[in-house]
Amino acid sequence: MIILKTEEEIELMRAANQLVGATLAEIAKVIQPGVSTAQLDRVAEEFIRDNGAEPTFKGFPNPYGPAFTGSICTSVNDVVVHGVPREDCILREGDIISVDCGTLLNGFNGDSCYTFKVGQVSDEVQQLLTTTKEALYLGIQAASVGHRIGDISYAVQSHCEAAGYSVVREFVGHGIGRNMHEDPQVPNYGRRGNGPQIKNGLCIAIEPMIAMGAKDIYLESDKWTVRTQDHKPAAHFEHTMAIHHGKAEILSTFEEVERIEAAKFG
Ligand code: MG
Ligand code: MG
Repeated sequence: MIILKTEEEIELMRAANQLVGATLAEIAKVIQPGVSTAQLDRVAEEFIRDNGAEPTFKGFPNPYGPAFTGSICTSVNDVVVHGVPREDCILREGDIISVDCGTLLNGFNGDSCYTFKVGQVSDEVQQLLTTTKEALYLGIQAASVGHRIGDISYAVQSHCEAAGYSVVREFVGHGIGRNMHEDPQVPNYGRRGNGPQIKNGLCIAIEPMIAMGAKDIYLESDKWTVRTQDHKPAAHFEHTMAIHHGKAEILSTFEEVERIEAAKFG
C-alpha cells in the first residue's frame, strides 16, 4: 500500500533528510587515507544524536544474522551495499566508499547515500561515479506526475548500460515515510510505462547501485556485506524526494558534500 504524504508530512521528511545531508558533509570532512570506517561511523552517530535524531540503521534487524551494528553503511570499492563499519577497515588512496545514512527525526525518515573518493581515483573509477550520479538525476527527472515508476527504472538502467556498466538487481529504491522502507519498490531496471503511477504526495528514495563489471553479487558470511563477484568496484548514490506540484522535489542534499569535494579536488 502506497502512503501519500501531506504538506506537513513532507516538511517533516525534509527535516530528516536535510539532517542526513548534513551528516554526509561531516563525513566528507574526515574522509582521507588512514581513516577507518569505524571512525566515520562514530562521527555520524554523534552528529545525528546531537541533532535530536536516531540513526535508523543502528540495530536494523537481519533475518539471516545479527542486527546491523553501525549507524551508517560504509561500502568500500567492490562492496556494493551494507558494508559494516570496522576498526580494521582503513581507507587507502584511490579507494571509493559509499556512505549510506538514515535518520529518524520527529517520526519521519531520511535516507541518502553518496560515494566518496579517497584521495585521487583512476579515470575509470571517476567515470563510474559520474555516470551513477547522472543516472540518479535522470531518474529524478522521470519522477513526475503522469509517469510511472518504470519510467524512473528505465532512465537509470538505460543511462548506465549505455556506458557499459551493470545494474545490481537485488536491491532497489523504495517508498519512504514513517518507515524507512515503504511501498512502492523503485527498481533501477525496468520498462517505461510499467509500475505504479507517480502522484503528488508520493515520497520515494531513488538509489542506483551500479557495478563497473558484471551485476552478480554475493553476501559475505557476516550476512551484511554485499560484494561484486568479479571484485570490480560499484557506486551508489541516493536521494529521497517528494512529488510536489507535479515534480520531484529533492528533500535530501549533496550541496555541502559537493562544496567540500570541490575544495578538496578542485
Ligand atoms: Mg540509503
Ligand atoms: Mg534507501
